Amino acid sequence: NATRLLNKTVIVTGASSGIGAATAVLFAKGGANVILLARRADALAKVKEQCVQAHQASGLKEGGQFATVSLDVSDKTQIASLWDKIPAELRNVDILVNNAGFVFGTEHVGDIKEDDIEAMFKTNVFGLIGLTQLLVKEFKQKNAGHVINLGSIAGREPYAGGSIYTATKHAVNAFTGSLLRELVSTPIRVTEIQPGMVETEFSIVRFRGDESAAKKVYQGMQPLVAEDIAEEIVWAASRPPHVNIAESLIFPVNQA
Ligand code: NDP
Repeated sequence: NATRLLNKTVIVTGASSGIGAATAVLFAKGGANVILLARRADALAKVKEQCVQAHQASGLKEGGQFATVSLDVSDKTQIASLWDKIPAELRNVDILVNNAGFVFGTEHVGDIKEDDIEAMFKTNVFGLIGLTQLLVKEFKQKNAGHVINLGSIAGREPYAGGSIYTATKHAVNAFTGSLLRELVSTPIRVTEIQPGMVETEFSIVRFRGDESAAKKVYQGMQPLVAEDIAEEIVWAASRPPHVNIAESLIFPVNQA
């Protein structure tokens, strides 16, 4: 029921592209207020404009407040400044979508650069944990809230050349499962969305900007698009308050 999103305030991390951008726009369309967070301020501004348009087209009177927060989730000092960067009228947050994340490189263990290992853990794991800690404190005080974490099929199945990325997503899975159990006696909800292959900037980042290498990943198959995952996230967020979508694994039909 879409009315459950009306006037809710949502933080979407990684909102400057792909799944995060599509999620921000879909929440906007549903009458929510959205705080769009990522590093690239220019890209965030464009997605914010799409949110404004989606909200206007919906004809809804509720929601429609949007803010961009340029923040690097891999930097704990920047995470600590989160509340200062959010306009006062949007600080009563209802939903956190921890979506920012990436994989860099396909090297096997032994060849992976230490900086890449650290960057993946700092973003995919420490950033997600840091933001969750900040929001769970608030959610406990008001006895309401929803944490939605982006895991991956890589959080269930390791693969050669993905040791660090799969380790980060296994960590997301373990962390999210523990959080769910810690909050089980409260109305606060915890969801993990685990996509298979989604065509976004993700593969371009993985191949360090080589777009043709990125395209080859999807040869012979029809990958998911960002909107497929956004719909799942917004669906989980709009279930009745007594329903918690704990995990959702979503594949393209032709991915095994
Ligand atoms: P994109 O590369 O399109 O988007 C990644 C987003 O994360 C961007 O908005 C980027 O913004 C942001 N981001 C990356 N690093 C940081 C950082 N340090 N601080 C803040 N924001 C950051 O990829 P997707 O949309 O595909 O990925 C979204 C999530 O989905 C990720 O967690 C990914 O692991 C997961 N996923 C993706 C799959 C796929 O096949 N695409 C499959 C399974 C899971 P900016 O550069 O502006 O900071």
